[in-house]
Amino acid sequence: MESILVLTHSDEAGTQLSKGSLEAVTVGRDLAGLLGAELTVGIVCGNSKDVALCLASAKARLLAVVGEAFAQPRYGTDAAACEAICRAVQPTIVVAPHSSRFARVMAAVAHRVHGCIETHVTAVGVNDKIEATRWFYRQRMEAIVTRTARPWFLLLDAGTNAVFTGEVGPVQIEEIAIELPVLRTKVLGNCTPEQREISPETSTGTIRPDAELLFVAGAGWTKKQSDGKVHAAEAGELILQFLRASGSSLGSSKSLVDQGSEGSPILPFLTHLNQVGQTGSTPRHAKGLATCCHGEEPHVVGWRFIGERRAISIDSNCGWTRGKADVVYVADAFQVMACLNLLLEAQSSVHTRSSGIDPTSVAT
Ligand SMILES: Cc1cc2nc3c(=O)[nH]c(=O)nc-3n(C[C@H](O)[C@H](O)[C@H](O)COP(=O)(O)OP(=O)(O)OC[C@H]3O[C@@H](n4cnc5c(N)ncnc54)[C@H](O)[C@@H]3O)c2cc1C
Repeated sequence: MESILVLTHSDEAGTQLSKGSLEAVTVGRDLAGLLGAELTVGIVCGNSKDVALCLASAKARLLAVVGEAFAQPRYGTDAAACEAICRAVQPTIVVAPHSSRFARVMAAVAHRVHGCIETHVTAVGVNDKIEATRWFYRQRMEAIVTRTARPWFLLLDAGTNAVFTGEVGPVQIEEIAIELPVLRTKVLGNCTPEQREISPETSTGTIRPDAELLFVAGAGWTKKQSDGKVHAAEAGELILQFLRASGSSLGSSKSLVDQGSEGSPILPFLTHLNQVGQTGSTPRHAKGLATCCHGEEPHVVGWRFIGERRAISIDSNCGWTRGKADVVYVADAFQVMACLNLLLEAQSSVHTRSSGIDPTSVAT
C-alpha cells in the first residue's frame, strides 16, 4: 500500500505556502485519490498557524517543523526538517516543489532515507504502476518513468500543475520537534517590502518566474541604429522602465549577453542567467514579447513554453519572428517601447487617481 507525503514550505514573506508547494499539494491529493492512499502534508516554515489554513479541505494529515530557524531557506535546517518529517511519516512516495529551496536539499534527504529521486517532473499518474513524466537534458527529452524503489521522491517543475485551492479554516497540525544541526550559514533575514522595491537592478532582480510576461531582449538593442550610432544606455533605460512598470521577467538572447566578453556595448543588468534558448533557460510564462531579436534559439527553443508570442523587429524578412511569433510588429523597438512605457505610465497614473492616492506621494 502506497502512502503519499507532500513536502511544502512557506513563501518568502512566510505568511502562506509557496505557489509551487500548493501545486505539489494538488498532485499529492490527486495521486492519493487514484491510489486510495493516505495523504500527509509536511510543512517547513517559521510559523505554521496561518500558513496551513489553506489546507483545511485537503483531507490530509498535517505535520510541521516550525521555528525561527526554519523561516528562511538554509541547507542544514531544510534538510534536517524534511528528513524528520519523512522519518515520522515513512511514506513510499514524496512529492515536493522543484523550488530553489527544496531542489538543493531533496537529493540529500532522499539519500538519508535510502530513497531515490526524480527531478523536473511535470505530471504524475497511475497506469498499473505510478508513472512520473519528466524532462531530461535541459527539457529537450521527455520520459515516463516508473520505479519499484521506495521511498520515491518526485520534484515537480513550477507551473506544471494547478495550485491547490480549498476552503480556508482551522486545521490540526502535529509539530515535530527536532534537534537543530550545527548551523554554519547565518541567514541575515528577508528583505522588507521597501528593500525589495529598491533591490539592485541585476539579473537576480529581473528574473521573475511567476510574471505573466517574458520580455526578451536581443542583440539589436546594442547595434548601430539608423543614425549610425549605438544607443546602449537609452536601450537599458527603456527596458528597465518597461520591466518596472509591467512586472515582466527579462530574458535575453545569447548574442546580447555574450557581448560584454567581446568588448561590445552591453546592458549592465544582464547576465547569462537571463539567457533563454538551447544553452539558456526555457521559462514558462503566459505571454512573450521578443525585441531586437533574430535568432532561432530565443524564438524556437527559449519560447517553447510561452503561450502567446509577439515580436518587434525592423527586419520584415526575419524567418524566425515570422514563423514563430503570433504577432510581429515590423517597427523600431526603441520607438515602440518608448510609446509603450508612456502608455503604462499614463495607465498607472489613472489607476492612482481613481484609487484616490496622491500621485506625488507615490512618485516620491
Ligand atoms: C551551440 C549553440 C548554442 C546556442 N545557444 C543559444 C541560446 O541558448 N540562446 C540564444 O539566444 N542563442 C543561442 N545561440 C546563438 C543563436 O544561434 C543566435 O546567434 C542568437 O540567438 C542571435 O541573437 P539575436 O537574435 O539577439 O541577435 P542578431 O541575430 O544580431 O539579431 C538582432 C536583430 O535585431 C534587429 N534590430 C536591430 N535594431 C532594431 C531596432 N531598433 N528595432 C527592432 N529590431 C532591431 C535586427 O534587424 C536583427 O534582426 C547558440 C548558438 C550555438 C551555435
